[in-house]
Amino acid sequence: MEHESAHNSRRSFLKKSTMAATFAAADFNLFGVAPFAAPAEDANAASPADVPWFRRVTRWGQVNITEKDPAKYDIAWWRKYWKRTQTEGVIINAGGIVAYYPTKIPLHRQAQYLNGIDLFGDLCRAAHDDGLAVFARMDSNRAHEEFYNAHPDWFAIDGDGKPYKAADLFITCVNSPYYNEHIPAILKEIAQLYRPEGFTDNSWSGLGRESICYCANCQKGFLAKTGKEIPRKKNWDDQTYRDWIRWNYDRRLEIWDLNNKTTKAAGGANCVWSGMNSGSVSGQSRSFRDYRTICKRADIIMLDDQARRDSEGFQHNAQVGKLIHGILGWEKLVPESMAMYQAHRPWFRVASKPEPEARMWVIEGIAGGIQPWWHMVAASHDDRRMYHSPEKIFNWHKANEEFLINRQPVASVGIVWSQENTDFYGRDQPEQLVEQPYRGMTQALIRARLPFVPVHADDIERDAARLSLLILPNLAVMSEEQVASIRNFVNRGGSIIATGETSLYNKWGVRQHDYALADIFGAHVISEAPPPMEDRLAGEAYHTYLRLVPEIRDGVDGPRNGTEPAISGKRHPILKGFEETDIIAYGGLLRRLKTDTGTEVLMTYIPQFPVYPPETAWMREPKTDIPGLILSGNVQGSRVAFMPADIDRQFERFNLPDHGNLLANIVRWTAKGNIPLEVEGPGLIDCNIYQQPGRLVVHLVNLTSAGTWRAPLDEFISIGPLRVNTRLPAGVKGKSLRLLVSNQKIPVVTKDGWCQFEVPSVLDHEVIVIT
Ligand SMILES: [Zn+2]
Repeated sequence: MEHESAHNSRRSFLKKSTMAATFAAADFNLFGVAPFAAPAEDANAASPADVPWFRRVTRWGQVNITEKDPAKYDIAWWRKYWKRTQTEGVIINAGGIVAYYPTKIPLHRQAQYLNGIDLFGDLCRAAHDDGLAVFARMDSNRAHEEFYNAHPDWFAIDGDGKPYKAADLFITCVNSPYYNEHIPAILKEIAQLYRPEGFTDNSWSGLGRESICYCANCQKGFLAKTGKEIPRKKNWDDQTYRDWIRWNYDRRLEIWDLNNKTTKAAGGANCVWSGMNSGSVSGQSRSFRDYRTICKRADIIMLDDQARRDSEGFQHNAQVGKLIHGILGWEKLVPESMAMYQAHRPWFRVASKPEPEARMWVIEGIAGGIQPWWHMVAASHDDRRMYHSPEKIFNWHKANEEFLINRQPVASVGIVWSQENTDFYGRDQPEQLVEQPYRGMTQALIRARLPFVPVHADDIERDAARLSLLILPNLAVMSEEQVASIRNFVNRGGSIIATGETSLYNKWGVRQHDYALADIFGAHVISEAPPPMEDRLAGEAYHTYLRLVPEIRDGVDGPRNGTEPAISGKRHPILKGFEETDIIAYGGLLRRLKTDTGTEVLMTYIPQFPVYPPETAWMREPKTDIPGLILSGNVQGSRVAFMPADIDRQFERFNLPDHGNLLANIVRWTAKGNIPLEVEGPGLIDCNIYQQPGRLVVHLVNLTSAGTWRAPLDEFISIGPLRVNTRLPAGVKGKSLRLLVSNQKIPVVTKDGWCQFEVPSVLDHEVIVIT
């Protein structure tokens, strides 16, 4: 029965999409909305007729066509596979470097083994006949030698006047007619011939940040914009280089707008162009793709983040889903290309990824508001196991999708990020300086089951009202506006945690004399000379420690001598769990700071001493007054924890439980207990909560299994029972529960605005709907 109804809904989608494709070009109304009117019998359907396809299609699939595929592409088989996997939209290779259809655009070369077949057209028609939406996929940043010979001035050249190449192909320049004329001509041709619902592009943003183009178009454009010559080399301290960075970002936004203008003019108001974006902010930076500004103009984000990395874990996927929705809006969709083959570490394009590894990546994506999109390379395979990987989870998604989209995250903790911090502070070491602290902090939150949302530093004012605590993990670069919004947040009683060098650099990455938030931190830089880069990076672990100050330095008792036994019960609650130790391992370096009166220092620095030989491993300076953690607050009730010790980054690097526990304690204390969820029971669980009208949706993802941390995962290990206690927002009664994965019936107790229940077991994940 379920298959039958699925089939019907596909048919109704077919009717809608066919109508849109037929009329959209000529006939959109005053509001710029295509007439997506549904047939009369669909008037009460779940998908309102005025919701455009890019807000409605929630399961995608893609065979990335190789040049060898055209002759053996079994379209009939794949149509059945679309049904098996409840796929509602497909991404089909169309044009760019090579064309998969008979194109009339000069120099738009046909795929090597196409032999005149209209493969894109055949697939597009098949998909439309089955009621699927089609994203025509472009790949547009390079071309063959014949193209280069015809238009050498359309290509990127280096400082010696030589063209940039990738293997045999020549890299095109984003400032040339290739992007202004050639690509738009292809988009127009495809839109008019085939009426795909939209367009995407694998590598639309051209030459990356590591290469500077000196072609005549670039020279002219940069001079016109800045009055300057293009910088001869990378130099982050040179304003001309920084201007060049910004100029490049702006150009990618122009390309985004031009392509959308082109596809919407040729294919109708809903014929959107959405080039692919990365799941890594530093990846976006390397490609000059300003995530927040792109999201402001995007109708849908096509996320190219195919698999996990050991350093990030599956939890990265939920985190990045929330990060993108934070800047895109939760009403829009973020489908993500998910490799069903062995991706990364190392690549085996046509070997199946273990099913548990593929499934868990999908599950964590869904937990972060991402829509699944199976991705395979080539249209036929010797390893057929990958065909089974998406089936079960895609069918589950189909049955439960009403709970998985159009919802708002519930969290009291926001973790602040910005791409400017990645660019102008991270510079050439964004991994160590920006991503590790961020990742360490998010991992500490996940480990402690503390729900959080990423907040862009420019969106603090928008998001602050629903948050108790903002965390700034080494957010060193801050604009004046961002500093002001933190100040407003604190003045309204909001709490903050800041680590490392937060607010010590201006928006261009120039180090300042003191933290912009020094008065709020209650701490000031003493030395004006910046520490050497090696101090900041600590590529090696330094043999350093932090001494836990036994009592609050309130002038009554004074700091204790480190040789005395710690007095349990008198320490600050942040040091709970550390009663049997006076020190914890650190690993970084700290400098002297001046602290304001009224602040409390809970940890002090123990400088490096030898590790080897063991006879020399004794503390040369067991006690200093160099602060590692400084607490303060204000009369509005704000709690501030400033941690010059970059415990977040050390936790990411070494995974020491002391660091994770300390971070969790600091979060709980600064949030003043305002955490909407408690989960008890062993295991590593990623917890995310969402609200829909009248109900809460709680995702519990079991990350405990063997192999969770080192890819690939090939076995699930069940956890449970888990005792869950969640706060009910207004409008949610907490009277009944549905467990969407195990379908178990369990009792619920609602008391004082909280809802308690016990989940007997969780294998891969559970999703609890509370109404
Ligand atoms: Zn150029």
